Amino acid sequence: MNKKEEKTLQKFAAPLGLSVDGKNGVIYGEYEGYHVYLIQVNHNSYSFAVNFSLNKAGELPQQDEVKQIVKESKDIIDCVIQGYQVIYTLRGGMTVAKTVDKLGLSLQTISAFLHKLGYQDTCALCGTNESDVSLYTVEGSPAILCDDCFKKQQETISIQTREQRNVKEAILSGTVGAFLGSLIGAGAIILLGQLGYVAAISGIVMAICSIKGYELLGKKLSTKGIIIVSVIMLMMVYVGNRLDWSISVANYYTDVDIFYAFRILPDLIREGYLEGSQYYGNLAIVYLFSAIGAIPTIMSAIRERKQTQESYKM
Ligand SMILES: [Zn+2]
Repeated sequence: MNKKEEKTLQKFAAPLGLSVDGKNGVIYGEYEGYHVYLIQVNHNSYSFAVNFSLNKAGELPQQDEVKQIVKESKDIIDCVIQGYQVIYTLRGGMTVAKTVDKLGLSLQTISAFLHKLGYQDTCALCGTNESDVSLYTVEGSPAILCDDCFKKQQETISIQTREQRNVKEAILSGTVGAFLGSLIGAGAIILLGQLGYVAAISGIVMAICSIKGYELLGKKLSTKGIIIVSVIMLMMVYVGNRLDWSISVANYYTDVDIFYAFRILPDLIREGYLEGSQYYGNLAIVYLFSAIGAIPTIMSAIRERKQTQESYKM
């Protein structure tokens, strides 16, 4: 989140005696004996979801009990229960100041209500009352956990990342995957071309299917993989486009079959039977849109590769 968004959250957090975590964009802290974190639900409005982790004499929260407050207050819109986690959605105001007032009131109402029912702060995973709970961020997501559960989570994560790192790229299978994907792309070029559409969309189909095909069978997309996929795409766009035109030629001249048309296509263009500018113009458009489809897909694959979500105590 950027500095401006963090500052806005600060305006809500400070009057409630809570803090802001700039990395994952949540408001968090202790409120009336409960560890809570608030997530802005909708960035166009000031509504928040406040997360509690609760038990009652060691038992899981009772749905009909904790939901009761939604009926009683018009600013508490919804209540969702996931194990020990209880999440209330709070209505905001039209302005920051009004929202601050509303949030304060709602939080007061909820915490008084929960205390009256006998609910205690607990770890969202094990529901313990034996050890202290704190607010953590686990792989970029906030969580109310005990020390033991956080340590266990961290161990699991580090094993998973190690396993992911050990996954070897299967270049041959990846190449097959990219080729199969590119066949779908070529099919799209031919189909849309035959239907008389400018083949822009088929370029995007080509890019996405080739890259996903590689990732699916190759398990990983390295720089080498990106180069292989790009070469396959370049070839298959050309083949797809030329086949599309060959089919049209074969349809027009009944004594010419598709494969013969494919072979003599350059001659047909040279001799003026086909409009060269149209042929190459169409090809250029498909190449352009293949690039438009490929760049964001490749970028997100690279980003995913680099991303290591952080885990820490807030
Ligand atoms: Zn625990």
